[in-house]
Amino acid sequence: MKIKSLLCASSLLLVTSVAAQDYPTKQISLAIPFAAGGPTDTLGRNLAVVMTQQLKQQVIVENVPGAGGTIAPARLTKAKPDGYSLLLHHIGMSTAPALYRKLSFNPLTDFEYVGQVADVPMTVIAKTGLPPDNLVELIAYVKKNKEKLNLGNAGLGAASHLCGLLFMSRIEANIQTIPYNGTAPAMTALMGGQIDLMCDQTTNTTQQIKSGRVKVYGVTTAQRVPSLSMVPTMAEQGMKGFEVSVWHGIYAPKGTPKPVVDKLVAALQTSVQDAQFKSRIGELGAQAVSKDKATPDALAKHLKAEIEKWGPIIQKAGTYAD
Ligand code: ASP
Repeated sequence: MKIKSLLCASSLLLVTSVAAQDYPTKQISLAIPFAAGGPTDTLGRNLAVVMTQQLKQQVIVENVPGAGGTIAPARLTKAKPDGYSLLLHHIGMSTAPALYRKLSFNPLTDFEYVGQVADVPMTVIAKTGLPPDNLVELIAYVKKNKEKLNLGNAGLGAASHLCGLLFMSRIEANIQTIPYNGTAPAMTALMGGQIDLMCDQTTNTTQQIKSGRVKVYGVTTAQRVPSLSMVPTMAEQGMKGFEVSVWHGIYAPKGTPKPVVDKLVAALQTSVQDAQFKSRIGELGAQAVSKDKATPDALAKHLKAEIEKWGPIIQKAGTYAD
């Protein structure tokens, strides 16, 4: 009996390692935790193009939005650990543990890490009809009209939620927030005048800012963003230390074989150095990470540090969901 189960286990191991050596032999799904057409989706689709070239199998983007981006990682924990189900997620992986009382996954123990992908600045924007013309005017206007204004975001745990939270706490004015499945639908609502304000990533706002379909009040990075060089930083306008940069990483289900992860890491490292990928996302304000950050170890370390950074800030702000 013992011999039989040993044989079974070793043949299973053999099948797994042969499968891992051949990987990939079919298309790979890259889940995006927010709606199609938004910032994470845009980054994911650009990455999928280069990863497809590298892996010689189609990488398809699959939008799995909901609950501020927590549905997609929860789903990944139930996926087969074979390298055909992956997830692209952002800073929300590090804020979710503090924001959600009942989270069905643990970002630190339930995944294999592939590596970091890119950093994306954010912008504070408004519908075109909003009267203020600069940040100083905006702050005064929001403080005076806080009962009437609202702020769109992509749900509790989204980058837009986090940035909006920080903005409201800095100016000490709470306004109503309206959650969407992603900032793509929130952007439609903003341009349609149904919502007043939003804090969103440049991958979703650059074109709307340049075409004048939204008003912009500042970028959330220490330096101006080259592709939006006409937009001042928040610090330049007096809001020192208001810095939010949205980092991204690729995750695989726990137990994905090491040879498979190694192949994904190699493909990711080549992708983040790819000139076309860099320039396509660069036009939208995003910056691909350096090769040494596109590793499991770098992502694991960064995630842990970010969980430790945001936990106390979120606890102080007192925003929770079940
Ligand atoms: N990244 C989200 C999206 O793609 C938005 C957010 O995090 O604020 O819609």
